[in-house]
Amino acid sequence: MPIQKIETDVLVIGGGGAGFRAAIAARERGVRALLVSKGPLARCGASPMAGADFTLDGASMNGLGRDGDTNDSMDKCFNDIVTQGWFLNNQKLVRHYVETAPRLLKDLMDYGIDIKLSDQRMIFFSGLHLMDILLKKARSVGVDLLEDVMVLELLRRDGGVTGALCLGIRTGEFIAVSCRAVVMASGGWHKAFWPNTGMRDLSGEGMAMAQRAGATLGNMEFITFCCNIMYEPPMWRGSLAPYMLGLIAGGRLCNRKGEEFLKQYDPSVVKTGTSTEWNKSFISMASMKEVRAGNGFENGGVHFDRGEVSWDLMKMIATFIFPDWKYKAIDLSEWGRMLEAGEPIEVGPAVEYFDGGIIVNDRFESGVPGLYAAGECCLGAFGSNRVFSAITEMLVQGLTAGENAAAFAGGSAQVAPDASLVNALVHAAEAPLAGKGNISPARARRIIQERAHAQLGPVRNGNELSDFIAFLERVRANELGSLTAASPGRIYNKEWIDALELGNMVQLLEVSARCALARTESRGVHFREDCPVTDNDAWLKESTATIGDGGFDIGSRAATVTSMSPPGGKVPYLDMMKRMMESHSDTGGKH
Ligand SMILES: Cc1cc2nc3c(=O)[nH]c(=O)nc-3n(C[C@H](O)[C@H](O)[C@H](O)COP(=O)(O)OP(=O)(O)OC[C@H]3O[C@@H](n4cnc5c(N)ncnc54)[C@H](O)[C@@H]3O)c2cc1C
Repeated sequence: MPIQKIETDVLVIGGGGAGFRAAIAARERGVRALLVSKGPLARCGASPMAGADFTLDGASMNGLGRDGDTNDSMDKCFNDIVTQGWFLNNQKLVRHYVETAPRLLKDLMDYGIDIKLSDQRMIFFSGLHLMDILLKKARSVGVDLLEDVMVLELLRRDGGVTGALCLGIRTGEFIAVSCRAVVMASGGWHKAFWPNTGMRDLSGEGMAMAQRAGATLGNMEFITFCCNIMYEPPMWRGSLAPYMLGLIAGGRLCNRKGEEFLKQYDPSVVKTGTSTEWNKSFISMASMKEVRAGNGFENGGVHFDRGEVSWDLMKMIATFIFPDWKYKAIDLSEWGRMLEAGEPIEVGPAVEYFDGGIIVNDRFESGVPGLYAAGECCLGAFGSNRVFSAITEMLVQGLTAGENAAAFAGGSAQVAPDASLVNALVHAAEAPLAGKGNISPARARRIIQERAHAQLGPVRNGNELSDFIAFLERVRANELGSLTAASPGRIYNKEWIDALELGNMVQLLEVSARCALARTESRGVHFREDCPVTDNDAWLKESTATIGDGGFDIGSRAATVTSMSPPGGKVPYLDMMKRMMESHSDTGGKH
């Protein structure tokens, strides 16, 4: 089959908020920009799933004519992000976030964003609406767009990135893109876990191929699990609805013995840890501990019901958040009946956000010439715990990465794809169609996903992490080469795509588990029951992972500190959590 060839200046991999913002910025700098999205345009990745909130300091919001808190400041936001990240943040990226966010809000207002609600330092709109606005803007400035196209590998010459090999999911055709710079904006790798919060296209190829191209991944052990995700029935599985209702209206969590297990924790931690975004780390950890102690239910979750909250109040809030009991195309009216009757549903943690990723500097350069990264696929501003807005982060990073990639592209040569390298990659990618192996990609994936949730979930320990790494090594040695799609058809062959994704997920899981094993402390969303202390003397460091001759090289580097000095000493995990919660400034609403 002939390989299609496309030429551009800046190739953007990923059609979420980071990718669109990068492509718009590059195009506005006068270069050609091609955005390649694995899923349908503006309807894939995490961005359309978000609430979504855009968070910046209230004084800047006020300056833009919104209801911001004038006592707020960029410095207060900076301090809040760093303390809530447990001081593991790259403070240069935090400064970039707080200083760039006002410009982004102005851009969004100029693009015509429909703001639903304003708070002290936040505005709210829906992720779907944001993506529609960005798609419209991208079209108006002339970004070239490809949807349902999966990037398989970066192409390089002399160490620098010169293009990428892609597969058209709907056509089964290969496309070789030649470019002068790449912005990686491929989001997270949710699909490596089961349960997850519903993403089908986020399987981590971007991070994995960047690492194979020579980039360093950092802080890969930090994975945010959203709490109170629906586990049952299957048609609701992965929905965030109880998380949102619990955050705003309250409710009760019970274990199998009928105990309200959060009551065993410090009341002030419970208060902040149930009514703000701290709930993700706190409740996910507490729920998982119950399940691991044998106090969970059939599907590995706990029970959520309305507890002491009156039905009138709960109904009023629920129908405000989920008008007509509909949320993201799911009909929740039966859950409404259950809430009224006081019946519980089974909920638990599910993977939602990846705090680590491709290490970048504050120009969003990865260290591989010509390769930039932005959004959730890069190691961003939030350190070991994100309670600020990832939506804002993806947009500020996309803007700067796109501008810098355009400048780089202006000064570099166009290199035609190396035909022999492309042919070798095509040959490898077609292997699952050749019918030589006997392992079903979908079945292998489910086993891996469930183990990832159990052994690399919100509660970890050294023995289980070692066991998981050994399991992944066996998968790599014995199974990945035998993945076979049941049908050899090329057009929209889901099993073929599953097989191509799986090696990338196994790579990232192994890196993450190795970093989690190396980090012998608990911090932010990384909780080790065998090391339940935050060790500020030994572990104010980012973990790093590259690919060396003998496999993965796991190391560390000091966290980037500019103006806010971290604390010292070893502090029990929950005491440190309480200290970080109490360090928050007097503004900021739910954050
Ligand atoms: C359910 C849910 C709700 C959330 N709610 C909020 C919220 O309310 N507020 C908030 O601040 N944050 C929220 N987040 C987090 C936030 O949405 C994400 O961090 C953010 O949208 C990431 O944007 P992104 O552009 O980096 O990646 P994404 O939006 O995930 O986009 C990644 C893109 O890369 C593409 N891609 C992946 N691999 C390839 C490949 N191989 N080839 C080509 N394309 C590829 C995908 O198809 C997709 O288009 C939520 C996350 C989830 C999962």
